[in-house]
Amino acid sequence: MLKTIFLVLCAGLHLFALENYTLDARQFWKDKTLFLVIRRFEQNDRIRYLTLNTQTLQTQLMNLDESMLEPIAPRALAQTPFAQTLNAATALWQKGGIDHASRRLDATLFLTMDLCPSSKKGYESEFLRTLTRQNGKTPIAVAISSAWLEHHEAEFEALRNDPNLSITWVNHTHTHFYDRALPDRKNFMLHQGTDVQAEILNVEQRLIEKGVTPSVFFRFPGLIADERLMRALREHYFLIPLSADAWIAKNQRPENGSLILIHGNKNEPLGIDMLEHMLPDLLKRYRFQAIEEAFVP
Ligand SMILES: [Zn+2]
Repeated sequence: MLKTIFLVLCAGLHLFALENYTLDARQFWKDKTLFLVIRRFEQNDRIRYLTLNTQTLQTQLMNLDESMLEPIAPRALAQTPFAQTLNAATALWQKGGIDHASRRLDATLFLTMDLCPSSKKGYESEFLRTLTRQNGKTPIAVAISSAWLEHHEAEFEALRNDPNLSITWVNHTHTHFYDRALPDRKNFMLHQGTDVQAEILNVEQRLIEKGVTPSVFFRFPGLIADERLMRALREHYFLIPLSADAWIAKNQRPENGSLILIHGNKNEPLGIDMLEHMLPDLLKRYRFQAIEEAFVP
């Protein structure tokens, strides 16, 4: 009995440990749909891949036969909803990315919640309970930094296991550098010496080790970016940067197609209070949809 428990524990510990997490950039076809392979890693002595469906923007971890992977054909890729969204979003460096749905929608909102590093315990669990009591199961894009995750393991587990939330996990960088004394142009990811690759890949690796699949979306800390970083997202990382046109604490009102921004790390209670007050009225007029739906039907 004890031996069995021991073996199960060992298996559990090693289940998600992974090595050599790295960029990849290849393609394959499946059921006439173009998929990209955007990352590669080793797990339990197998090579695995983070893949992207270029029609739906859904990511998936897959075991693939290496021989089916081809170099990316730029012309085929350019026709896809993914490439069109990526190009549009990375052209908007002043905003930090795309801030509104890019397709015609009827009475729809998109909720995004950032988990920047915070010394506060807990997360906005009460607000989320209020939301899901009124709205039922709710799609939400959660932008997570490893620096928050490392100090909020229990909170992360509670959030990911919340049966009333359908979460799209958004990359909000590894360290999420911020120094209140620095101007924006030298702050966040524009801080000198930022290791862009480590900032992006490390948080993805952490999520996969926890059994969660990172999405194709990225949120710049502070929504601060420049053209160089946008080009890196477009050409190397294949990540769509999300901004927001309804940052609630900044008094930006949501309207049809808006990306709403709140902070779930308890650092911005004003935005949480304001959105909670708006909720009954918003829910009469709008429905929340998964973030992918802002860009593809
Ligand atoms: Zn942040």
